[in-house]
Amino acid sequence: MALSGLDIYKILPKTNCKECGFVTCLAFAMQLAKKGVEPGKCPYLSEEAKNVLADAGRPPINLVSIGSGEKRLNIGNETVLFRHEEKFRNPCGIGFILDDTLSDARIKQTASKLGKISFERVGQVLKPDAVAVRQSSSPEKFAAAVGIAVEASGLNPVLMPADAAGLKAALAVVKDLKPLVYRITKENISGFLPLVAEAGAPVAAHAVTLDEQAGLVKELNAGGVTQILLDTGEVPPQERIWQLTQWRRQALKKNNRLFGYPAVTVLKGGDIYSVAVEASGYIAKYAGLLLLEACGEEEALALLTLRQNIYSDPQKPLQIEPKVYPVGNAGERSPVLVTTNFSLSYFTVLGEVESSKIPSYIISVDTEGMSVLTAWAAEKFTPEKISDSLQKFGVSGLVGHKRLIIPGYVAMMSGSLEEKSGWEVVVGPKEASGIPSFLKNLS
Ligand code: SF4
Repeated sequence: MALSGLDIYKILPKTNCKECGFVTCLAFAMQLAKKGVEPGKCPYLSEEAKNVLADAGRPPINLVSIGSGEKRLNIGNETVLFRHEEKFRNPCGIGFILDDTLSDARIKQTASKLGKISFERVGQVLKPDAVAVRQSSSPEKFAAAVGIAVEASGLNPVLMPADAAGLKAALAVVKDLKPLVYRITKENISGFLPLVAEAGAPVAAHAVTLDEQAGLVKELNAGGVTQILLDTGEVPPQERIWQLTQWRRQALKKNNRLFGYPAVTVLKGGDIYSVAVEASGYIAKYAGLLLLEACGEEEALALLTLRQNIYSDPQKPLQIEPKVYPVGNAGERSPVLVTTNFSLSYFTVLGEVESSKIPSYIISVDTEGMSVLTAWAAEKFTPEKISDSLQKFGVSGLVGHKRLIIPGYVAMMSGSLEEKSGWEVVVGPKEASGIPSFLKNLS
């Protein structure tokens, strides 16, 4: 939990010796509270003060990594209860479960399909993160299934062993990939803990009550395991949301380090619509990892899109570089359309221009990521700004005409824009969906 300047001052030596570069200990404390200076600048900190400051500097929810290399999934490190307070930092991971009773060929085929799920939306590539394999067979079959699934999918591994023998066999195959071990309970901890600690793998920990969960985390910490996910278990949705919310509140509001870990929840199969609806609730509140039994591409697209929206920075809209973008084989006779640099606006216009099959130029004006009407109301999408953008991007050097298409919602600026820019202004459709027919009928 963040400490105030006065809290920090109380644990400083209060000698005002100035060796830290500040005139007083209080001034140093104020800078420490703002994270403007490192505690090590004071050579006279007591061990207790160092520990308190180090603890206060840790995020209230630990960062946990599943997998290795650039594709590893990082979750946790969250600092707020509500997205609008600042932002959520590390998107909830989404993974899919395969059972080791499937034939090797089926596991390979399904895992490969999962690994290929990929969508591009507003300039970002959305993909699932993990493949989980559940043990229902012998340790040998389980380990082989894990190897096939991980290799065929290229996703981060999650092991769901039935017993310590299964875990040992699977770790022998993918230990270096730092798989998540799902899950440790009070029943299996004696068998699982030594294997997990030796592998340095992250684990999911499950207990029924808050007290038992805290006890399990303590035991894991004592065994040298700190990469932990708290598992909700397969309880009804309302109980899961309650658990997820309590854990987040304990970590952020009560500064309870035993709950300072991201959470994982597993959804059993069902019809894809109800699974997608239930999963949406957990993405919003407050799963760090979601494991689903079955998956269609449609289901994945819905969840990945929701995740993208929830984990975007509410104070910094997704935006693209302001510039002129040619679409297709644009040339000197091509129409010129203008929009804002809000990603969603730009990519919506782009999609419609592409579907018209008429090569065009799209000018994206720097509106600090605001959409057309918002930017207009905030005076970020004005005749002056559009006119400046036309000049700055050298648009008159790209086309042999001076005709600019503006969004229908800002038709009111057409006269003023003509005056400022010297371009003929044509009012386009209000909705982007009208662009294809508009361009086709443009004489
Ligand atoms: Fe105070 Fe430490 Fe700075 Fe000296 S070095 S003024 S003791 S904070």
